Amino acid sequence: MLTMGIDIGSTTSKCLVLEDGRRVAGSALVRAGLGTDGPEEACQKALREAGAAMDDLARRAATGYGRAAWREADASVSELTAHALGGRFLFPEARTVIDVGGQDAKVIGLDAQGRMAGFVMNDKCAAGTGRFLDVMAGVLKLRVEELEAVCARSAAPASISSTCTVFAESEVISQLASGTAVPDVVAGICASVAARVAALAKRVGVKEQVVMSGGVAQNGGVRRALEGALGVPIATSPLAQLTGALGAALYACQQCEK
Ligand code: ADP
Repeated sequence: MLTMGIDIGSTTSKCLVLEDGRRVAGSALVRAGLGTDGPEEACQKALREAGAAMDDLARRAATGYGRAAWREADASVSELTAHALGGRFLFPEARTVIDVGGQDAKVIGLDAQGRMAGFVMNDKCAAGTGRFLDVMAGVLKLRVEELEAVCARSAAPASISSTCTVFAESEVISQLASGTAVPDVVAGICASVAARVAALAKRVGVKEQVVMSGGVAQNGGVRRALEGALGVPIATSPLAQLTGALGAALYACQQCEK
């Protein structure tokens, strides 16, 4: 039995086809989110990879910021539930899922059985989200994919003290003007995001195993700074950015089994 999960985000559309709730048959990530044809493209790509057609799917569930906009969905599921399900599928011992996406950050606490025990969310401020990294990468003329490698060359991370993205952008520009090395500026930017996310995580209470999902999980600079701020190792998967789509596909599968 095939189910599909689609996660329509602010910057990207992620789609995943799951076989019998156990095996990932196909997945796709398209860098175009809500209000574009990104969702449709991601859906077609994931189906192609799975060697399946829309009619082969037993059920489809949508999640993410733009989930209400996808007409093909049989069901919709909250991002919190999707990330909890997906995080736990990837790491069966997960007790804390930290999702940092393009425009928000969420921390989900799970009990030993994987049920949601609490959560906190920042969807009001770009600081502590992927948006902050996207803006700063733009200032530095770097791609977000490059931030990790540049950060690794830092000898002494710069201090980015502004908590507001707009002010932090000016701070980065003046750091560069005063001769601070680019790797140190990047390390300061990663540490700034990590500090914001760590403050969020501490409000939920951090229980191991800690898992990071969302696009920003791929940025090792942020991940390592977060490990330092929380004092615990953080597990992540190559499917981190697809965790929401995976959770939605699992949700669709659970509904079929009921
Ligand atoms: P959304 O669901 O809101 O679109 P995602 O979970 O897809 O958000 O995450 C998007 C964010 O992830 C971007 O803002 C960017 O900062 C970050 N990101 C995406 N791809 C990468 C990558 N390859 N390396 C580092 N960071 C990335």
